[in-house]
Amino acid sequence: MNEKDRNFIKRINNSNFNEEIEHFKNDLKNATFLSLDTEFSGIGFSNIRQNDISERYVAMLKVLRNRSLYELGVAIYTQLDEDDSSDKNEYSTSSRKRKLNLTRRYEIKIYNFVLLNSFDHTISPHSMTFLAQHGFDFNELFLHGIPFNVKKHDEAPPTSPYKIIIDSLSKCNVPVIVHNGILDLLFIFQTFIAELPDQLTDFISILLKYFPKVFDTKYISEYCDNPETRSFLPYLFSKYERHNFQRIQNEKSHISCEIKGYSIPFINITHSLYKPWENNVKLCSDFSNHGYCKLGMQCKNSHDITLILDQEEHKRNKVRERKRIKLQQKELQQEEEKTKDDIGVTIDNNENQKDKDSDSEIEESEEISNNNNNSNVINQVAKFGNYNIHSAGFDAAMTGFVFCYFHMTVPDLANLDQSKFLNRIYLSGKNTSLYLQATKYPTTNTSTTTPSSFNSLITSTYHKKKWNIK
Ligand SMILES: [Zn+2]
Repeated sequence: MNEKDRNFIKRINNSNFNEEIEHFKNDLKNATFLSLDTEFSGIGFSNIRQNDISERYVAMLKVLRNRSLYELGVAIYTQLDEDDSSDKNEYSTSSRKRKLNLTRRYEIKIYNFVLLNSFDHTISPHSMTFLAQHGFDFNELFLHGIPFNVKKHDEAPPTSPYKIIIDSLSKCNVPVIVHNGILDLLFIFQTFIAELPDQLTDFISILLKYFPKVFDTKYISEYCDNPETRSFLPYLFSKYERHNFQRIQNEKSHISCEIKGYSIPFINITHSLYKPWENNVKLCSDFSNHGYCKLGMQCKNSHDITLILDQEEHKRNKVRERKRIKLQQKELQQEEEKTKDDIGVTIDNNENQKDKDSDSEIEESEEISNNNNNSNVINQVAKFGNYNIHSAGFDAAMTGFVFCYFHMTVPDLANLDQSKFLNRIYLSGKNTSLYLQATKYPTTNTSTTTPSSFNSLITSTYHKKKWNIK
């Protein structure tokens, strides 16, 4: 990806801070919500899998206190007035107008803050290699990073650039979206707010003063009515981008995402991305399932999410075809029953069950659009080629789109304030979440009673988050 194409993510470091921060503040004024993501120095293979929530938090903060955030990605999502779109004259017929009114239009602005912790900290070589492989600019970090010192928050004046960032975000007072965000939130707290408190309850109370409404898209993806079996970020992003297109084809409500001041849209809404599956490609199962493969770039099998999704659609199509044939057979059998009353017809129950199971995998859009009008049209979408290069800003933007999609399709998210997903942060490994709720948890003595929802804060040490080792 060349420099020009990367321009849609605004990088802010210490050299351009003063001129860019005003644009950032301006963009925040119209925010509907913010999505956040971080890059950091890795957490290594630390043992932070204690079952007890308090112990686990203590173990985590011991690790994090010696680590550092490097990048904060912020995607500002602004939902545009729906009436805006109906003015566009290209849609003249009434049916098209109706279709267009189903569009949820968002304008996004993506920022990537580069931050340099001046306090000594530990790095994980493995994570650094990963960052380097994916285009992370260490020169920019050490030459132009916005300075902060995790040990000297009290001494930093409110005019410090990093204080201005967190104040702007907090004042914005809109929902904050993360994906598998426990470490993001801990690092953001430690970088911008204060040293991590000794007690989890204090962490939560203070965090909520800055960000009272947080949603975690990984939690939503695994705990909604149609839970995803794969939930790493680029997978969900690519999948919902496809589903969104299929919704357009089926005249259902759908999303459009424009990047402010940039002509290329963030998501594809013009052509199907599905290609007929060819069996000659071997997909890496680790990567397919978790978005992470320990072999990294050395892996001989494919890490291409496009192909993972093509294969899934291919399987779904096969299931559909099998269902169609079975239905035909069943109708035929019923015909026969009518004529031959005395002959019983046995239906293979196992097969039926198999079909049912497969049904649940079939997502909402029944009709896969195979009308591949993309053979000639190569419409550009703002993407990093094959996800080899990424940044916190881009991941934040992907998280935002995933949230938009859930907001549109998950009934419980229609009213965000009442949502059961509000302030639930994903924890891997156990059937639970970290519930951010200040009032129930006094900031004083926490050793006596532990609220039940805090029974276990599970966090994965190295399946850090979306799709890579951290
Ligand atoms: Zn692999």
